[in-house]
Amino acid sequence: MTKDTLTKDTLTELRDLTRAFAAERDWQQFHTPKNLAMALSVEVAELAEHFQWLHTGAAEELDERKREGIRHEMADVLLYLVQLADATGVDLRAAALEKLRLNGEKYPAAVVRGDARKYDEY
Ligand SMILES: [Mg+2]
Repeated sequence: MTKDTLTKDTLTELRDLTRAFAAERDWQQFHTPKNLAMALSVEVAELAEHFQWLHTGAAEELDERKREGIRHEMADVLLYLVQLADATGVDLRAAALEKLRLNGEKYPAAVVRGDARKYDEY
């Protein structure tokens, strides 16, 4: 592990690793924003499939095989999201912080505490 790796934040490290992974395989040509968005959507569906038909999906309903499948699909989702952010020039950390701030404005805790309705329903 290089000094650079130790000082990188997690998302930057994952971005660099996905860049190297794609470059080694000459796959960058396929990684258009459209293709990455579609791949991300497929991986989200694969993740959801592990929970399909379970009562709640809580830990007691998941055996080790299912936990591994969920873990792997969550990784696929994150890796495609990181690649999509890279392909579209989005700073994913900054975007997430921005959205958390906006959600906080849209859903003030004092107004919505314990209420799961959408912002336009209360
Ligand atoms: Mg997958």
